[in-house]
Amino acid sequence: MSLFVQKFGGTSVGTTDRIKAVAEKVAGFRDNGHDIVVVVSAMSGETNRLIDLAKSIQDSPDPREMDVLVSTGEQVTIALLCMALKEKGYDARSYTGGQVRILTDGSHMKARIQEIDVDNMRADLSAGRVVVVAGFQGVDDTGNITTLGRGGSDTTGVALAAALKADECQIYTDVDGVYTTDPRVVAKAKRLERITFEEMLEMASLGSKVLQIRSVEFAGKYNVPLRVLSSFADGPGTLITLDEENQSMEQPVVSGIAFNRDEAKISILGVPDAPGVASKILAPIGDANVEIDVIVQNVAADKTNDLTFTVNRSDVAKARAVLEVVAKELGAREVITDAKIVKVSIVGVGMRSHAGVASTMFKALAAENINIQMITTSEIKISVIIDERYLELAVRALHTAFGLDA
Ligand code: ASP
Ligand code: MG
Repeated sequence: MSLFVQKFGGTSVGTTDRIKAVAEKVAGFRDNGHDIVVVVSAMSGETNRLIDLAKSIQDSPDPREMDVLVSTGEQVTIALLCMALKEKGYDARSYTGGQVRILTDGSHMKARIQEIDVDNMRADLSAGRVVVVAGFQGVDDTGNITTLGRGGSDTTGVALAAALKADECQIYTDVDGVYTTDPRVVAKAKRLERITFEEMLEMASLGSKVLQIRSVEFAGKYNVPLRVLSSFADGPGTLITLDEENQSMEQPVVSGIAFNRDEAKISILGVPDAPGVASKILAPIGDANVEIDVIVQNVAADKTNDLTFTVNRSDVAKARAVLEVVAKELGAREVITDAKIVKVSIVGVGMRSHAGVASTMFKALAAENINIQMITTSEIKISVIIDERYLELAVRALHTAFGLDA
């Protein structure tokens, strides 16, 4: 007998029929003797609907009131799911974040969990009840309702699993696991049996949208085995665990290929080759709250530098405006922007122990005549910036080159 925390996202509880289907799934686990704590999101579209209601009254509503408002979405789902379970003859009890006592700090709309009181949940489990907890919400030490930021129910699930020392945190969603890459781009993409927290974190921050990044960080920190599976189909899904458990001989060097279409490239040409220049260029960009991703600097023959970096596409205009000012001050020749680029990355813990991964990557891209504009690497990742026209071709070529095709 195991204890599972099972999180069901908005699509999985999008209609009352789907809520009944979730109850059915949970009931199956109960029949097999497992203890279950369920975490649910709001019914799909509900959180957005609530935010729109607020926006129709005030442009930037008080964050405290926003939390009172948006937390209601999950409160609806926990009650309905308990009713569906009771209708099937299973005892269940619902809890809002405050009722569990998921204690958070006071930063509304982006609160962080500080402590979870497990006593109520433990008592219910011992009494044979299914515990149903509202995701995404908590309470601060003065009793204000808080929320954890969009997609926060994943984090609630992982945090409860950590606090209860559950055997597994299962995230039920509309895909049946984590794939080697987006199956919409590469038909031969395959579901991964396992992936490490580290790899999942890279995949998530590089553009794969299966899990909220924070929930993966949390799971890694507390070593909570995390499984992504489909609410609509049976199957083992993908297990996300620590590195050590993943050292089989067959483990490929590269586990997955991620890509991001949301970046744009900005270059400032002909800046003086002198100490402090990079900081003079990049500091104001940071001050404008624009996040910088890949950075490359070339030294030109005339002892000036060209600095190129990427930002989110939605920030290009803002970054450019800041940079025009800096360019004047530094006597730079020109500022150019290019939004027609993408970032393609290969990810794998196997890179630590294998040489030649970068050259395999560059060779595969060269064979397709794809020009690499920028390169950046970390211990378990290599990213390249290329023309957006070649995205599909690049991802497919790399998928084949690293032996990931199904
Ligand atoms: N309902 C919240 C949202 O839509 C939290 C979640 O679904 O994880 O962001
Ligand atoms: Mg969600």
